[in-house]
Amino acid sequence: MWALQDARLPDGTTADVVVDQERITAVGEGVAEEITERLDCRGHLVLPAFVDAHVHLDKVLIRDELREHDGTLAGAIGAIHERKRRYTAKDVRLRARTVIEESVRHGATRLRSHVDVDTIGGLVPLEGVMAAAADCADIAEVRTIAFPQEGLLRDPGAFELMEAALQAGADVVGGMPHWEVDESSQREHVRLCFELAERFDRDIDMHVDETDDGGVRTLEMVADEALDRGYIGRVCAGHVCSLSAADDAYAERVIEKCRRAEISIAANPVTNLMLQGRGDHGLIRRGTTRIGEFRQAGVNLFFGQDCVKDGFYPFGRGSMLEVALISAHAAHLTTRDDLDFALHAVTAAPALAMRVADYGLRPGARADLQLMPVPSWSEALRLQPLPEKVWFRGRLVAESSVRSEIYRS
Ligand SMILES: [Zn+2]
Repeated sequence: MWALQDARLPDGTTADVVVDQERITAVGEGVAEEITERLDCRGHLVLPAFVDAHVHLDKVLIRDELREHDGTLAGAIGAIHERKRRYTAKDVRLRARTVIEESVRHGATRLRSHVDVDTIGGLVPLEGVMAAAADCADIAEVRTIAFPQEGLLRDPGAFELMEAALQAGADVVGGMPHWEVDESSQREHVRLCFELAERFDRDIDMHVDETDDGGVRTLEMVADEALDRGYIGRVCAGHVCSLSAADDAYAERVIEKCRRAEISIAANPVTNLMLQGRGDHGLIRRGTTRIGEFRQAGVNLFFGQDCVKDGFYPFGRGSMLEVALISAHAAHLTTRDDLDFALHAVTAAPALAMRVADYGLRPGARADLQLMPVPSWSEALRLQPLPEKVWFRGRLVAESSVRSEIYRS
């Protein structure tokens, strides 16, 4: 048993946190008094470890090897094909491992990764990411989503590969209905994903409407399917960019359906700021979904890293603190409430989307924690420090310090 003493909680109060084995057993003022092994936190901020519930570990760090393209989603997908053909499980494993380690260093200990499943790479990406997850099981928990990036109807053979991926141990059913060529194929894509999820008893996490075209409306197909089948609280929709371009009446209706189906929304402003609005001149759209409206409706919404130096996005380092900062810019988050929302969107919200039951800074939760060298969450956002320490299942898994001096004359 050990304890953090004199730590600042996100709400600004000071408390101790007691950990026994893998679990937090007490949080409160003075609860560390009796514990022998204590870490004096000197009023520094303690947070539950970050959760990155939307990342693509199979694609990370390939950017330098790709040809240049037009910067759009379609351009990026096309540019990756050639590299994807050359993937080996070892190559994917090493790149994914590097980014998992970077994520842990930046305070994230739970990740959920989409992994391409298609007739170009077959199951090689999944094999690589699952191997990396096993390599890193001592420092992080990594789950996988079988993701038919090239479509299901557009890519004959992909559906059978999806079945094989789930048999091989992929945790969640992915999808990308808007990538199909017409509305009836989109609808069929959604139906096939739900059929797989029911058959294998898996949750669903699809890429939905990642386009500026307000006429693309597969989110409603996903919500309707979830409601019809009673798949409540088991579905996540990522990106959902076109909702911002659609009319308000549609948006209101579909947001209400998402609320009823308890669908989580992965708004990934970091990459969508880069990918969307490429056809605009002058006043360029941000390309993000209706973050404010989802929030107001009480729909669970989180921010993901999505991409790390791949064909879609040249930056990223597994820092959910950076993701929260960039997302705050994209979503006009400035008030105290707004900043609390940004914290929620990289901690409890993605944990809920992953249906993690034992998450948080409370007795009974798994002791996945981080200590920040600042006194508050707003200072963490502003200054972007590395966590001083990160714990996974109650064990110290990362430690960082930065030395910086000013020399006066
Ligand atoms: Zn994505």
